[in-house]
Order: sequence, then C-alpha cells, then structure tokens
Amino acid sequence: MTIDITTTIDLSHGGPMPLFGLGTFRSPRGEPTRNAVTWALDTGYRHIDTAAIYGNEADVGAAIRDHEVERAELFVTTKLAKEDHGYESGLRAFDASLDRLGLEYVDLYLIHWPGGGPREESWRALEEIRASGRARAIGVSNYAVDHLREVLDQGSVVPAVNQLEIHPFNFRSRKEIVELCRQHDIAVEGYSPLAKARRLENDTVQEIAGAHDRTAAQVLIRWALQHRFVTIPKSSDRDRIRENADVFDFHLDEDQMRRLDALDEDFTTSWDPREVE
Ligand code: NDP
Repeated sequence: MTIDITTTIDLSHGGPMPLFGLGTFRSPRGEPTRNAVTWALDTGYRHIDTAAIYGNEADVGAAIRDHEVERAELFVTTKLAKEDHGYESGLRAFDASLDRLGLEYVDLYLIHWPGGGPREESWRALEEIRASGRARAIGVSNYAVDHLREVLDQGSVVPAVNQLEIHPFNFRSRKEIVELCRQHDIAVEGYSPLAKARRLENDTVQEIAGAHDRTAAQVLIRWALQHRFVTIPKSSDRDRIRENADVFDFHLDEDQMRRLDALDEDFTTSWDPREVE
C-alpha cells in the first residue's frame, strides 16, 4: 500500500478527500494561522480543517486565497458550532462561515457536536446547503453509534464523514463507532492524532520511532494513515508542520501496528461522543 501526501479517499458523495491534512484548533487567529496554512500549503498539504468555534476561519481563508495553489486542488472543512444547531440557525451559521472564509464553497461541512440543540434540524440544513453546491460534502463529528443510527434513519443523505478523536490510546474504545461508519461507507476522520502531544513519551511509541529513526509524532500519524483514517495533525510551527508531513517514506509493519493498537486506555483529550444522548 503506497500512500503519499496527495492520497485521497473517495467519499460516498462529494469526494475525493485527501487522507492527510492540517488541523487548526487553537491555531491563534491572525498571523499565526495565516502562516501555518501558508507553510502547510508550501509543504504540500492540500487539506485544511477549521471550524466556526476556532475563531480563525478568516485567516484560513485569507491564506488559501493568497496562495498560488488552485482552490480546486484544495479540500477545506469547516463546522457548525453546537450553539447554532437548528434549521434556520444552521443555514445562517453556514453563510457566516463561508463569508468569513471568503470562499465560494467548502469541500466538507460538519455538525461539530451532536449535543446542545436539535441536531435533526441541523442535518436538514446541511442537506439543503449540500444541494445548493456550497458544501460539496456534508458530515458529522463526534457522533457515537446512536447518533449515527439516528441520522441514517432520519436523513435523506448519508453523512460522507464522521470526524472523531482517534489515536492508539483510544482506538479500541472507538471500534464500534468505526465499524458502523465503515458498514455505511462513512469515511472515518481521526482528530487529535497526536493525542494533543500528551503521549509522545510513551515507551512503545518511542521504541517504534527509534526503530525507524523517526519522531513519535510521525509514528502516530503513520499509524492513522495505515488504518485509512483521514488524519489532521495540528501545528502552528513551521518545522513541526514539515515534520508531520514527512511520513510517506516509511512503513509500520504488522507487529508494530498491533502493538500501537494495543495502547488503548480510553483516553479522551477533547470530547467523548458516548456522553451525549
Ligand atoms: P493534535 O493531536 O493534532 O496535537 C496538536 C498538538 O501537538 C499541538 O499542541 C501542537 O503544538 C503539538 N504538535 C504538533 N506536531 C508536533 C510534533 N511533530 N511534535 C511535538 N508536538 C507537536 O491535536 P488537535 O486536538 O489539534 O487535533 C488536530 C485537529 O483535529 C485540530 O486542530 C482540529 O482541526 C481537529 N479537531 C476536531 C475536533 C472536533 O470536535 N471535531 C476536536 C479536536 C480537534 P504546535 O502547534 O506548537 O506544534
């Protein structure tokens, strides 16, 4: 299996989606985010993940618009904040996001979190946004099994993507969600692939990194790619943006993948989707 920085997966609608991209949560607004996106695009990243609540859509959009890479070559995701759940509010929030980004369309629009409001109504808004062509694909984030069953039952469009926290330290605990997604051709996008840099000292990760003469971060990103999880490591640092993209010329063998898979400790750095009714 050869994967490079341009490798894409086909979504059930709206695809293809690059398997590798840049996260921007806590990427500070203004120059730091504009720089991070510019450095990422210079490095070859073609996929940027933002959200209304990150407060940096305007900077993400500005960096994209100012860069020589054609818009058609890029994949841009943003998300509906939980405060904006609902049909009318969902439509309004999307318009505001697109306006801040300064783009004509996004490649993917996600419901950020299942809780906090009428998510069924939000999904209707997303279906309409998709029909208008202003979001090429629509999907969900932090949806656990019951939320997925609900949208599969009630929606007219199957979500193209479910974005949830995935790294070796919660992999087995998320297995049921991942399997349901795969049964329904919902692409699995793993956020916080580095577990927010809180497990980089783990002995197993360090040992495997040493064996490949790589960093712990590179091993965690490679693990995600080999599982065919869309992966979006975040960095605002030029060197780490490059380091995180330098993962396409080594391969974790089956034993190394199995040892990483076994690191599960049900560790959640952000949101646990199983907590929401
Ligand atoms: P990550 O697992 O990507 O870790 C990011 C942290 O690791 C930052 O502190 C970063 O610092 C540091 N880091 C990055 N690269 C390296 C490296 N090579 N070596 C050491 N440290 C490194 O966490 P995120 O939570 O940011 O997840 C990634 C993206 O996923 C988010 O940015 C966001 O786009 C998305 N996300 C979505 C959520 C959702 O609810 N849908 C929730 C959380 C994240 P520095 O910047 O200084 O390099």
